[in-house]
Amino acid sequence: MSRIYDRVALIGLGLIASSMGHAMKRQGLAGGIVGHARSAETRAAALELGFVDRVCNTAAEAVAGADLVVLATPVGVMAEVAAEIGPHLAPGATLTDVGSVKQAVIDAVQPHLPDGVHFIPGHPLAGTEHSGPRSGFASLFRNRWWLFTPLPDTDPAALARLRTLCEAMEANVDVMDPAHHDLVLAVVSHTPHLIAYTMVGVADHLRRVSQSEVIKYSASGFRDFTRIAASDPVMWRDVFLTNKEATLDILGRFTEELFVLQRAIRMGDGAALHDYFTRTRAIRRGIIEAGQDTDAPDFGRTKIE
Ligand code: NAP
Repeated sequence: MSRIYDRVALIGLGLIASSMGHAMKRQGLAGGIVGHARSAETRAAALELGFVDRVCNTAAEAVAGADLVVLATPVGVMAEVAAEIGPHLAPGATLTDVGSVKQAVIDAVQPHLPDGVHFIPGHPLAGTEHSGPRSGFASLFRNRWWLFTPLPDTDPAALARLRTLCEAMEANVDVMDPAHHDLVLAVVSHTPHLIAYTMVGVADHLRRVSQSEVIKYSASGFRDFTRIAASDPVMWRDVFLTNKEATLDILGRFTEELFVLQRAIRMGDGAALHDYFTRTRAIRRGIIEAGQDTDAPDFGRTKIE
């Protein structure tokens, strides 16, 4: 694969940015990669790991001369970062972000951008429960969706170039409206995370249980909740603060469904439970057929013999 951008600036050097850096390096997709993160420690780690060629102490310095700038910080700081870099963006540069919420990022970033900069909000549906520069890897985006929510005046050529980059990092690209993105993500990611946090919180309240049995017997469904509930607290705080309406909408529907199941249990309505679980099992099959998960037992975890 050949070079797609001459100079890429990564602002924020955590899981997503480091994975992008590794993937771009592996394929030679960028002439050079410059990085900036808040702490000197993260900047040093990025250099040591080699997914950037150079780091800068400020975001403004990092974006100078870049033809692609990627905002890969928590959503809650994107407005202040955009305000800092706005005056330093090169004319004709593309600015994208990887934030998990789209409408709030557009509202926060767009006012700070000069004319002539192509802002194309984006979101890779790829991640793990780990964070920081050491958690990234080049194949994170393989066969994962990368959604873009272009603005009405987005330049098609700039979008096509960014799409080429993401496809070269092995992602599948799709385009949608920001509000629709936020609703879809509330269903497939944000609300499930909230439910996992809640379930782990419930176990934590039952201290008697959490001190011993939860750890000892966690080889069942609870273990998967704990994995999700170990996700970065700053990132997820910002997701719920910025995708408030869609999450509350889905949470309301979730609560209604929960009451339906609660009633079926109370009334001993086995047929209703069986029907419900048959429908949900079909959804799981659909996800596996779409290549978005493995059907290996225990989610493909390696067995220790
Ligand atoms: P992460 O591993 O926690 O990394 C965040 C990075 O942002 C760190 O390098 C941090 O620097 C930097 N940062 C924080 N505040 C900053 C500031 N004011 N100025 C400059 N840098 C700052 O996060 P991540 O998982 O890569 O997530 C980054 C973005 O991707 C988030 O918006 C998230 O919503 C989105 N996203 C995440 C996932 C996922 O599963 N993790 C998936 C898709 C999209 P320090 O290390 O110095 O603090």
